[in-house]
Amino acid sequence: MITAERYHDISCGHKVTGHENKCRFLHGHNYRIYFVVTAHELDSIGRILDFSIIKSKLCMWLEDNFDHKFLIWEHDEMASELKKLDEEGVVLVDFNPTAENIAKYLVDEIGPQQLTGTGALLVECRVEETRKCLATYKIIK
Ligand SMILES: [Zn+2]
Repeated sequence: MITAERYHDISCGHKVTGHENKCRFLHGHNYRIYFVVTAHELDSIGRILDFSIIKSKLCMWLEDNFDHKFLIWEHDEMASELKKLDEEGVVLVDFNPTAENIAKYLVDEIGPQQLTGTGALLVECRVEETRKCLATYKIIK
């Protein structure tokens, strides 16, 4: 399989509901998020998708929706209060915002939505919370 890959860096807050240690607190990370795309065949030039399209469709989605925002699970006990404090900056998500769940959400929801019509498919996402800790979600074909 041939894949093309591009990463994007964002700064984002989150709170992991139910975490046993310090990730239960309000905090954030300088995330590095890798997008891996593939297609059934290469285009006439020999590409899956131009890297600039990965940027405009996926990296810019992160920039517009998650960068400098705060992700919190809609069922977290602080969710509604935080949303009242910062309507625009707090993003309620329907998953506990661990690196694993963010990766899964990007592949399952955002990839199909953003890459429609390009002929490419987002098959893997790696979410680094720090340079030492990352989670991967991939669609096994
Ligand atoms: Zn964290």
